Amino acid sequence: MATSGKMIAEGKAKRIYETDDPEFLMFYFKDDATAFNAQKKGSIESKGILNNRISRRFFELLRENGVDNHFVDCPSEREMLVRKVEIIPVETVVRNIITGSLQKRCGRPEGETLPRPIVEYFYKDDDLGDPMINDEHILIFSWATREELDEIHRQALAVNAVLEPFMRERGVLLVDFKLEFGRDSSGNVLLADEICPDTCRFWDIETRKKLDKDRFRQDMGGVEDAYQEIARRVAG
Ligand code: UDP
Repeated sequence: MATSGKMIAEGKAKRIYETDDPEFLMFYFKDDATAFNAQKKGSIESKGILNNRISRRFFELLRENGVDNHFVDCPSEREMLVRKVEIIPVETVVRNIITGSLQKRCGRPEGETLPRPIVEYFYKDDDLGDPMINDEHILIFSWATREELDEIHRQALAVNAVLEPFMRERGVLLVDFKLEFGRDSSGNVLLADEICPDTCRFWDIETRKKLDKDRFRQDMGGVEDAYQEIARRVAG
């Protein structure tokens, strides 16, 4: 099995290493937390371990339900071996309930359930603050082809169709989430990155208590407990 080699990137929440096989990369999940385009910085105890565990469970569940992804294995509690992809510079957000930046844009009450999921795109560029974009920008600036974008849209809704009921059975509302996709060595669109409380909003179904990174963004306290709670409900 592949082992970690040279570090090729360090992001806000994880480090990415080459492995002895050019087809694979190794993620190392850190406890560092950032918000508001890294203007707020901190650390959440054990976050890396919990996010690795939660992401793994989601990727396995998605594969069992026909949504392939880059996950291969977790050789340790903070490491995830993944298939190498060329990341498409578009963040895809799926929303079931109005909150966050959508609430600011649409002026509707926070917490309103949408009649069907909304898919949105953001250009993955920290210097620009990840601006919202649409299909036209993606095609005209060649960030993805029409076929790739149709595939991203289809897979994003398929992820929601698997994760939303899975979380509901565990007493959690999947409010919204962000996905990243890449191109594998054959040029196919493949779900990548991570899916965890850093990248999803989760609310308790009974109390609507926030169980995700919004607790860190909004200084609500109980951040680690929320991540632990999601790990317990998702991965046992
Ligand atoms: N999100 C993310 N990374 C980002 C921006 C958003 O993972 O850089 C996630 C966020 O956790 C939420 C969803 O995408 O689950 C929608 O976020 P929104 O557009 O409401 O932005 P925010 O309110 O977080 O600025």
